[in-house]
Amino acid sequence: MTTDCRHPLCELIGGSCSLATGRSRGCTPSLTEKKIAPDLFDEVRELVAVIDPSAPDERGRAAAIRLAEIMRREARNDRHLLALARTDEPDLVPALEQLCLRRR
Ligand SMILES: [Zn+2]
Repeated sequence: MTTDCRHPLCELIGGSCSLATGRSRGCTPSLTEKKIAPDLFDEVRELVAVIDPSAPDERGRAAAIRLAEIMRREARNDRHLLALARTDEPDLVPALEQLCLRRR
């Protein structure tokens, strides 16, 4: 199944975009902490290690679904996982970019 959004993560999961939050940026002032808990990054690190976009299997797909859940939840709280990884956990960035940046 293909998706319109061209996120490799969503292609792995199938169906409609798994990263869309359905929320527009802007007006809502953010009172939440702009940091992601270190143990959440630990979980993300374990998940991306399991996901191989070039050879998807059931385990990788389950990890992809979980990762998309985390990214959506954090985005709703104004925490953009990829952006925060760039400053806090740069070693995670290549794997996250591979999964979450739209394919050109
Ligand atoms: Zn998507």
